Amino acid sequence: MRALTVEPGKAATLGLTEVADVQPQADALLVKTLAIGLCGTDREIIEGGHGSAPQGERALVLGHESLGEVIKAPAGSSFKAGDLVVGIVRRPDPAPCQSCAAGEWDMCQNGEFTERGIKGAHGFASERFTLRERFAVAVPKELRETGILLEPASIVAKAWEQIDRIVANMPYRPRRVLITGAGPIGLLAALMGVQRHYDVNVLDHSLHENKLRLVQEVGGHYCLAIQQMSGPPEIIVECTGAAQVVIDVCRASSRNGIVCLTGISGGRRPIALDAAKFNNDLVLENDIVFGTVNANRRHYQAGLEALQRARKGFLQSLLTRRLPVDRFAEAFEKKPGDIKTTLEWA
Ligand code: BGC
Repeated sequence: MRALTVEPGKAATLGLTEVADVQPQADALLVKTLAIGLCGTDREIIEGGHGSAPQGERALVLGHESLGEVIKAPAGSSFKAGDLVVGIVRRPDPAPCQSCAAGEWDMCQNGEFTERGIKGAHGFASERFTLRERFAVAVPKELRETGILLEPASIVAKAWEQIDRIVANMPYRPRRVLITGAGPIGLLAALMGVQRHYDVNVLDHSLHENKLRLVQEVGGHYCLAIQQMSGPPEIIVECTGAAQVVIDVCRASSRNGIVCLTGISGGRRPIALDAAKFNNDLVLENDIVFGTVNANRRHYQAGLEALQRARKGFLQSLLTRRLPVDRFAEAFEKKPGDIKTTLEWA
């Protein structure tokens, strides 16, 4: 079968290659791939900066954002042929650590986890893939066109779950939310912030009409400067990973501010920082700054609920380019107006 493969650690090795067909274990679903979503992590892998192949292999099948249709389910499964499914990305470490043993593999303690399409396990970018039921999320038929957004939505749902826990311990309810970045993660973070009835502001680095429209459609405010907000942000979800933005938002947060960092920084340019002043500002304002990565099954479920509550048109507008898999090279080129690009396996 055809698969999108790459040799991790080496740039320019991405290709559509012939690989051995999948052999589902007795307890696994056999799935036909419908679509694969592309994100910054895939880009880093194809540039040779991230990712690893399964042990003893040279190539990695790419693709961690999936949507597929079940071809065959094992006897006694809650899935049947024709059902839509999304694969969970992370697999618990073999030990397993306490977190992985509790199903909270997103909080793995020893780093020995694998991630499909990223770290030590083949991804979903092949004509077919297999999935143990424990790592399969059922997607309702209404989300056939937009269910590919579930994996990024799970990442955002985890970020919001962490914020919700912090807010639950506060003596008052914060109102003003700032989301930095109007890509898929930023726009999904805005959606989930509005669903929680916050006053949501999305900061973009330059004006993009389509993003402005989407932010307004979801019920948020689009801004090009933090000063455009009605007051200092009390909750910030940083979705750019741009080092300067990370520092700026930590400084801009209100007293008792919550800053959630979701992005990986690609830039190699060092940034000057008065670390003592930075520390004092955080301490004297009770600020909380935390990072978040990955998602467990509970977050996929929460992400699914958020997508189901969203307007279909909003979700469709996030999928700005859908290309057939043969045009994979073009899919990785950045185009103006891009939000989420997907590869379709007709
Ligand atoms: C994926 C996560 C993964 C992270 C680090 C992200 O792009 O969405 O599932 O944990 O990369 O590999």
